[in-house]
Amino acid sequence: MSNLQRRDFLAGAAAFAAATATLGGRGRVAAGDPSFMNNVPDPLLSGKDLPTFKFALEKSKGKVIGNSFGKEATVEQLPISKGIAGVSMKIEPGAMRELHWHATAAEWAFVDQGRVRTTVLGPGGYTETNDFEPGDVWYFPRGHGHMLECLGDEPCHFVLIFDNGYFSEFGTFSITDWVGHTPKSLLAKNFSLPESTFDGFPESEVYFARGAPPPQQAADPLAGPKRPPLTHKHRLLANPPLVSTKGGKLWMVDSTKFPISKTITGAILELVPGGLRELHWHPTADEWQYVLEGKVSVTMFGSGGRYRIETLEKGDVGYIPQGYGHSLENVSDKPCRVLIGFNSGIYEDIDLTEWMAGNPLDVLATNFGKPASLFEKFPRKDVFITDKNGKQ
Ligand code: MN
Ligand code: MN
Repeated sequence: MSNLQRRDFLAGAAAFAAATATLGGRGRVAAGDPSFMNNVPDPLLSGKDLPTFKFALEKSKGKVIGNSFGKEATVEQLPISKGIAGVSMKIEPGAMRELHWHATAAEWAFVDQGRVRTTVLGPGGYTETNDFEPGDVWYFPRGHGHMLECLGDEPCHFVLIFDNGYFSEFGTFSITDWVGHTPKSLLAKNFSLPESTFDGFPESEVYFARGAPPPQQAADPLAGPKRPPLTHKHRLLANPPLVSTKGGKLWMVDSTKFPISKTITGAILELVPGGLRELHWHPTADEWQYVLEGKVSVTMFGSGGRYRIETLEKGDVGYIPQGYGHSLENVSDKPCRVLIGFNSGIYEDIDLTEWMAGNPLDVLATNFGKPASLFEKFPRKDVFITDKNGKQ
């Protein structure tokens, strides 16, 4: 391809990627779930009762090396979570989640504790190195090579979200695994170096590499800096909340504010004791929840009289399929904080109060078989988050 053709092709590919991200469902077809193609119900979601939508992620063992761990929630641990997988990862000082890529998912992360440094390399040789603090997020497009390392002398903890429930963090492509299984003669030719260069290299996947703590200031890459057009870092909690009411706060970022994050929207929801994120649904995305702090009652409505309530505590994961009605309520006497991820780069929701307020009195009267005057008292716009008395 000439440079011109290549540029046109890349522009076309970018437009297609943007279109599929907005359509939401297309991504899931690629992920192996045909139900979104022809609207045939997912067998897991067409039974008499709704399946569980809760998994106690932090109570699971995961993969442990030294004082670092990775615990995952995929369709294996939480079968309903077909659209999104998640991982809780802790890295000890001096340790690194080695250079790797994910063949089947993009990676979004929220830093919960400690400091993290990442490097990422995309097509075109663009590289970015970033340092993260609690409240910061990153996004790595599907297939882009990256590493994560703990900075400083405190361990770091972060929660990863992947836009594919079939994805497994333990089935990713790690550099030591690849190099360790490639014949030395081929490596020698590939790198134009003597075969002996590769003597003593790891023969299998290292996963968490351990060495000297990284320098205070990140050094330049071997090839020199070549910054990408879009940054992979966003300071979510350093920004003011998008919503702030008597009942709680919401910080949220999608691709309109964090352009590289084309397939994932992330949010932090804080609710005061008794606070409620009202009944609503998302027309274009599944929802993945991780409780950072507190205790939350999550309700889910799945049509056909099916209704399920789960109580999520710190370290638990919840999942709401696209289009399913749900609510979140703080049922403890302390504030709660929930990390929420959506597998769409554009956030969309429809709230129950907003839906009703979007209809005339006579429609509501007929629908519920009640006098029109009753509905005069209903909210005139979405409530979104209320406190324990239903006040915004
Ligand atoms: Mn990764
Ligand atoms: Mn929701």
